[in-house]
Amino acid sequence: MLKPKQKRVISPEVQAKGAAALAKWRKEKAKAQKKGGKYYEEWLAAEELKKAQKRTSPLQAIKNFCNECVGGIRNDITNCSSLKCPLHIYRPYQKGKEE
Ligand code: SF4
Repeated sequence: MLKPKQKRVISPEVQAKGAAALAKWRKEKAKAQKKGGKYYEEWLAAEELKKAQKRTSPLQAIKNFCNECVGGIRNDITNCSSLKCPLHIYRPYQKGKEE
């Protein structure tokens, strides 16, 4: 049996925080637009990068980092011997695991 949809409740503090963050973002955007040209393009590129980083999951980030560390060679990640690396136990392509 389906439960009736519950209305999402957002506390006034969280709403105020969100509104403040949005106001700050709009202010920065207006400032960048006012300066225009190269400055605005750089601001847009930085915003796109932030969005892309937010879309990346932690596991994907670790996978990307390991790939960059060893130059994209999967076997090198599997056989990584850097036990002191904080990502060592989380690295992808470990032996005995299916990828
Ligand atoms: S676990 Fe190994 S491959 Fe991954 S980042 Fe650390 S040293 Fe590089």
